[in-house]
Amino acid sequence: MLRAIWLALVFALCSAGAQAQMAGLARLDAGQSRIVVEGGGAALDLGLSQVVPWRVFTLDEPRRLVLDFRAVDFGQARAADLLQGLPEAALRFGAMRPGWSRLVLDLPAPLRVASAEMRVDAGNGAARLQVRLAPTDAESFMHDAGIPQATGWDMIPAAVPKPNEDGRLVVAIDAGHGGIDPGAQRDGVVEARLMLTLAHELADALQRTGDFQPVLTRSEDVFVPLSERMTLARAAGADVFISLHVDAVDQPQVRGAVVYTQGAEAADRATALMAERHNRGDLLGGVDLAGQDDTVAGVLMDLARRETGPASERLATALVTHLRGAGAAMNDHPHRRAPLWVLNAADFPSVLIEAGFISNPAERTRLDTVIGRQAIILGIVSGLQDWAQSESALGPLQRR
Ligand SMILES: [Zn+2]
Repeated sequence: MLRAIWLALVFALCSAGAQAQMAGLARLDAGQSRIVVEGGGAALDLGLSQVVPWRVFTLDEPRRLVLDFRAVDFGQARAADLLQGLPEAALRFGAMRPGWSRLVLDLPAPLRVASAEMRVDAGNGAARLQVRLAPTDAESFMHDAGIPQATGWDMIPAAVPKPNEDGRLVVAIDAGHGGIDPGAQRDGVVEARLMLTLAHELADALQRTGDFQPVLTRSEDVFVPLSERMTLARAAGADVFISLHVDAVDQPQVRGAVVYTQGAEAADRATALMAERHNRGDLLGGVDLAGQDDTVAGVLMDLARRETGPASERLATALVTHLRGAGAAMNDHPHRRAPLWVLNAADFPSVLIEAGFISNPAERTRLDTVIGRQAIILGIVSGLQDWAQSESALGPLQRR
């Protein structure tokens, strides 16, 4: 029933939008927008500069409301300014794919979409989206939840790079976060943006060696689900996977790069919190996690450890040695293990590098400059060269 409602709206708005000024991106008018969660229900009122195709649905485990648009520029809007009745972390919005935007609201209780409509001001073409949520029971919520199947709204996979054919080692470079999931933020430095820059710099440096063929899991500020990052790497024929991140914690004195490999459990609380923050990416981005239970994750992890674990461990050792040799600031515990979803691939060795802590003022300033990132780039490149040489000496390298 609900699905019929939004489907009709999408089609109605596609044609209405075509007549309206489709030139330019619709912008969110933060001053005309409010999301209020109170009294057992919720009301979303969003002011937009023009009509856009949109849809609304809910997801379970955990309960979320998702609004998709093609596309909305959220500008400088902040969750704290729009949201009333819930902590600001309950609301995220941003880019998904090019031409695609999403807003995700965590629901404190089972709520159903009681009404949803977009109205257009005939005078100036501005649009107003109103969604009203009313209480329902957990069972009905579960029944109605899920991403609607509809053509034109599919999660179009990012472009897959061509597999390598000239014998060079394919290095999948995975810039952490992106789009609706900005990652860690401190003093204007945003992890998703910084990691995209670092990924491009690393790709250039690897390319120049002639030994490697770099491929990026994302080359724009867009959201890519964790599992899709591995799928993209696999499709590109990746021999090795390197996920790039920076961390932020409450203690400003904590600093230095850390290389993570897959582990059954974190050795300490700080590491456990880091893993939790990063495994939450898909949840933040409105990915349907229902059905992806812990058993599946456990099996995947066992496989990963058995097949590629030792090679990943050797890579981490080489990276720590060479990062240090290149003069990169290293953490007191530079090699750690944690259960990280993005390292779950069983068919290529994977590591996650935290290039440093942007919660440390000096490190934040350093990592935000090209010169400051040099040691990280050099360390990764020579670490990979050393590791690749040792692996081929060990016998059948992972060339297929
Ligand atoms: Zn991160």
